[in-house]
Parts: sequence; structure tokens; C-alpha cells
Amino acid sequence: MTQEHVYKITFGILFLIFMLIRIYYAKNIKGNVKLRTEGGKREKFLVFLVSIGMMIIPMIWMFSGLFRTTDIGLPNYARTAGVIAAVLSLWLFYEVHRTLGKNWSPILEIREGHTLTKEGPYKRIRHPMYTQIWIWVIAQFLISSNWTVSLGGLVPWALLYFIRVPYEEKMMEEEFGEEYLKYMKETGRILPKF
Ligand code: SAH
Repeated sequence: MTQEHVYKITFGILFLIFMLIRIYYAKNIKGNVKLRTEGGKREKFLVFLVSIGMMIIPMIWMFSGLFRTTDIGLPNYARTAGVIAAVLSLWLFYEVHRTLGKNWSPILEIREGHTLTKEGPYKRIRHPMYTQIWIWVIAQFLISSNWTVSLGGLVPWALLYFIRVPYEEKMMEEEFGEEYLKYMKETGRILPKF
């Protein structure tokens, strides 16, 4: 087994945990009544691009040598830092999902009984799940040490993040009014505000 295999297997295990957390919480919101959906086709398309970049491309990397020509050759300490970042990202992912509960949705939606979550990771950050995904795509870059896998993760995610967030905040403001405006003043977008 080469060092490359070790990184691929490590990433594979972390990736599997990521998927299991998502599947568990996705099951949790099944059957919730939707009251409002924003940016239908645009949001679905962005999620589709992100799925390719965060699932399909890493899988091809894990199971084949197809991207070998785009290897970056990062030093071991950088790739190890990526593993630590991915573990941190998974912990945050779990915490965020647990706190957001039934208010979570993979696209922009308001559901019956939707409340504004302001506690736990949401106390100082408005979009802690997006913080977590930024950490994950950076970890994907460091661990894979491969341009195809890195840009495959970073580019679609950056597109989704920068396009979605203004619409998401507008939707939340329309739904929760003053409460959200006050919440915006108390929090940072993806970095904590103290
Ligand atoms: N942007 C948040 C949530 C991502 S999930 C984060 O990064 O943690 C996207 C859905 O979460 C949106 O459809 C929206 O309805 C909902 N949402 C976003 N912020 C929320 C909050 N503070 N409280 C409750 N629901 C929220």
C-alpha cells in the first residue's frame, strides 16, 4: 500500500461519515410540509454542480488513477492538516444539523413550523453549515493534493455560496422580519462575531 492509498482510504472513511450524517438528517425532514421554495431551478442546478464536485469527482479519485496527471504533490504536513480540518468539519456538520433540526433543507425552503435557529453554532454565525462546507472543500484540496479534485470541490461550492447567500438572507428576512434583522446584527456570515 502506497502513501497515496492511505490518503484515499482516510478521505473515503471521512467522506462516508459525512454521507451518513446527511442521510440521517435528511430522513428526519421527510414529509415536512413546504410553505415556500425559493429559486427552484437555479438552486437545484447549483446543488447538482456541488454534488458532482463533492461526491462524484472525489469518488473517481478514490477508486481510480484517472486524475494522476493533475497531482499537486503537497507535503505530508499539509495533507495531514487536511485530515484534521475534515474531522473538525464533520464535528461541526453534526452539531449544525443537530441544532437546525427540522429547519434544515438542501435548497431554499420555508417549512411548516419553521423557527429561527439562534442557538449553538448559530449564536455567533448565521451560516455555520456553509462555514463547515468551506472547511470541508479546503480539506478535500489538502488531502487529495490534486488540482482536479481541489477545483472540483472549490469552484461549484464557491458558486453556490456566493449566489445563494443573498437570496437566503432575503428570504429569511421576509419570513422573520425584525427578528432576522436583529439576528443579522448579532452574527457574522461564516465567521463568528463577538
Ligand atoms: N445557511 C444555514 C442553513 C443551511 S440549510 C447554515 O449555513 O447553517 C438551508 C435552509 O436553512 C434554508 O432553506 C433556510 O430555510 C434555513 N435556514 C437558514 N438559516 C436559518 C436559521 N438561522 N434558522 C432556521 N432556518 C434557517
